[in-house]
Amino acid sequence: MMIMDEDYLRHIDRLIAQRPAARRALIPYRELARLMVQAEPTLNAKKPQQAHLEIRRRAGFPLFAREDLPADFAAAATLLTRFFKHLSETGREDQAGLRRALEQSKKDLQWNDRALKAILREDEKVLTEMAEQVGLDPAVLLFLGKTALRPSLLALRPLLEEGIEEKSWDKGYCPLCGSQPDMACFTKTGKRQLYCELCGQQWAFARIACPFCNNREQEDLGYLEAEEGLRVYFCNSCSRYLKTIDGRIFEEVAPLELESLATLHLDLIAGQNGYK
Ligand SMILES: [Zn+2]
Ligand SMILES: [Zn+2]
Repeated sequence: MMIMDEDYLRHIDRLIAQRPAARRALIPYRELARLMVQAEPTLNAKKPQQAHLEIRRRAGFPLFAREDLPADFAAAATLLTRFFKHLSETGREDQAGLRRALEQSKKDLQWNDRALKAILREDEKVLTEMAEQVGLDPAVLLFLGKTALRPSLLALRPLLEEGIEEKSWDKGYCPLCGSQPDMACFTKTGKRQLYCELCGQQWAFARIACPFCNNREQEDLGYLEAEEGLRVYFCNSCSRYLKTIDGRIFEEVAPLELESLATLHLDLIAGQNGYK
């Protein structure tokens, strides 16, 4: 099934044209997005029963644990190989490592699958060993693996939609996979929406609360404004931060992983202020 479309590429082109700070990350990412748009993962899982959804939701459990996500791993593995191939031909500094990763993934057909599953388990040790085996920066393997998983995880969205309506999930972690948010936005009506760093699910969350430690003490919470409509919300209780784009200021908000790549300068500001 077709998951991502040309509109995704249009958002990237718009961000590159309108926001100079977005260029550094989004110009190379566009090449990956072009390959992502071509991916056609299948949805193999059955829609869970409403009662099952409700029990899990009431107990505060996401629909799946990360390592149990019934994603189309074969489609993700194929996409990851395409990324290695494409990037190893672009003259990047790490092209030798990318070429070795490509060779490895062709020689050992389970290699990509192991990397993808290590990412879902958040198994840093295995992922680092695999990256070192081919001489690639583990952060690059993590980013490429997560990006390769994206279309397959987006394909799972129909499993959840009926169960989760606005306000029925008030947790700081993703209702589909339990991951933490890595970006947020304010809707046109000023409601806060969090965005899952892994599967791309979006859900409503209270404005005055930290999604990471659930702290609701107003004096510990605040924000830094990088520019109008782009803020870094922080929590002085757990020292975490969350980048947020205000949909009332920006005419159009792109899928939030694109907004996240377009605002790497905000991560810098957060880091300089001691937030992680
Ligand atoms: Zn998720
Ligand atoms: Zn916190």
